[in-house]
Amino acid sequence: MSVSENLTLITARMRKACQEAGWPSDQVTLVAVSKVQPDDRIEAALAAGQKIFGENRVQEARQRWAARKLSNPDLLLHLIGPLQTNKVKDAVSLFDVIETIDRIPLATELAKEMARQDRHLPCFIQVNTGEEQQKSGVSPAGLAALYQECRTLGLNITGLMCIPPAGDPPALHFALLRKLAGQLGLRSLSMGMSHDYPEAIRLGATHIRVGTALFGDRQTT
Ligand SMILES: *Cc1c(COP(=O)(O)O)cnc(C)c1O
Repeated sequence: MSVSENLTLITARMRKACQEAGWPSDQVTLVAVSKVQPDDRIEAALAAGQKIFGENRVQEARQRWAARKLSNPDLLLHLIGPLQTNKVKDAVSLFDVIETIDRIPLATELAKEMARQDRHLPCFIQVNTGEEQQKSGVSPAGLAALYQECRTLGLNITGLMCIPPAGDPPALHFALLRKLAGQLGLRSLSMGMSHDYPEAIRLGATHIRVGTALFGDRQTT
């Protein structure tokens, strides 16, 4: 299957899941996760009309996207990986959406840098719904305090993001994320990847992050 055929298939499945759940068909945004993918697949996605991409590393994203964004101002880049405070400056200049705010020091640096660059990007808070030791994301119990601090800092928090633990039924985590967002009055939910995006959509996802189902397996070098 080519990238453009995959894109057609994913778009159809997105529409079907929206229909089944009674959502408007334009409720869900596909974030094409291009990390580690070779150039020809990126170009194929661009040629097929995809404009929104997700990357999990600032440096890699810059190499892949800086020049392409200059020549194509319509492109939107989501940061979906953990962000270190020493990379905040580069992240704010390159990305259009930050999905992974998970602690107050990071929020503080982001707010400062966005003011400095006058780039006030929409942001998501990443929630560690499985409370996994090694995973980034704020714990559900710490979410409200982090959210309040982000608001005080003037950050534009539009929603929540999660990555369910491998091996757990993802639906539990999608439902929890939706509940937490509801409690805070947040509308956007970034949840669902290649293996579970239709389910995420039925549970209210507004952004799905799909890599391998669109581009094929990632090269492991
Ligand atoms: C890699 C990645 C994805 C995409 O995963 P696939 O299973 O390839 O669709 C989604 N979200 C995050 C945070 C990722 O790091």
